[in-house]
Amino acid sequence: MASAFQNCRSVMVTGASRGLGLQIVGSLAKSCHCPGKVIATAREPSRAKELRCLVEKYPNIHIVTLDVVNQESIANAAKEVEALVGEEGLSCLINNAGINVVANLEKVTAEQMMQNFETNSVAPLMITKTFLPLLKKAAARSTGMGIHRAAVINMTSLLGSVELNWGANANNFKWYPYRTSKAALNMVTRCLAVDLEADGILCTAIHPGWVRTDMGGAEAPLSTEESISSVLSVIGNLSEKDHGGFLRYTAETLPW
Ligand code: NDP
Repeated sequence: MASAFQNCRSVMVTGASRGLGLQIVGSLAKSCHCPGKVIATAREPSRAKELRCLVEKYPNIHIVTLDVVNQESIANAAKEVEALVGEEGLSCLINNAGINVVANLEKVTAEQMMQNFETNSVAPLMITKTFLPLLKKAAARSTGMGIHRAAVINMTSLLGSVELNWGANANNFKWYPYRTSKAALNMVTRCLAVDLEADGILCTAIHPGWVRTDMGGAEAPLSTEESISSVLSVIGNLSEKDHGGFLRYTAETLPW
């Protein structure tokens, strides 16, 4: 994992109860280059047993309750995180929580589209907006661009690429709600990058690969450890050139 995380004062991860979010928290906490504070959010911490076990072992992990589709929950979480990070602000926000509503043209409903949009596209925007004062505080203390200063990382998917959904690739994964929600998240990332550049807050969308989680399924080629060690290495090395970018977990740029 990238040693760059030792220069990062705090990382907050949404959806840390299981899957990739849990792995991010575990990998950061175990690393000898761990950031000062790892803030793991979960909508129901009482049900996140593995996360609670990690907290018992690593005192630099802090659990905060956050249901990403509930504005009141977002506001309460921001207050809690503010108390944790103080004047240092929040250095790195990873919008990881997501759902996959699978429906093809025949089956898709308006409700399914809205449900996937709410969690995957709208929530990362509203969370970033609410946590902006804390990100700006961190950014004001440093120069350059990267997680040593302030960054927003949106966990997106290759399936959100409009360009790649064409030709031979277009025959697979006809998931209207999920694919469109990740395409929208990519645009949210780009819009945030335009708006937050002046504050020195780096914004990047990252595809973690196809990973064996509840969402990715048992046939996926990557373990959570493999994906996240690579994702964290990419995040740790992000700089000006990656601002507003759409990257694969192996650091290559993906087509929008
Ligand atoms: P999982 O389904 O394994 O985990 C999803 C996580 O999101 C859980 O922690 C879940 O919490 C949380 N979550 C969902 N809705 C909410 C909510 N309203 N409030 C708070 N937390 C919520 O998914 P992965 O770990 O595989 O995926 C993580 C991210 O990576 C997602 O954004 C996904 O789209 C993306 N991704 C994953 C790929 C893969 O192959 N696995 C491929 C490409 C992208 P709870 O336990 O409470 O349900």
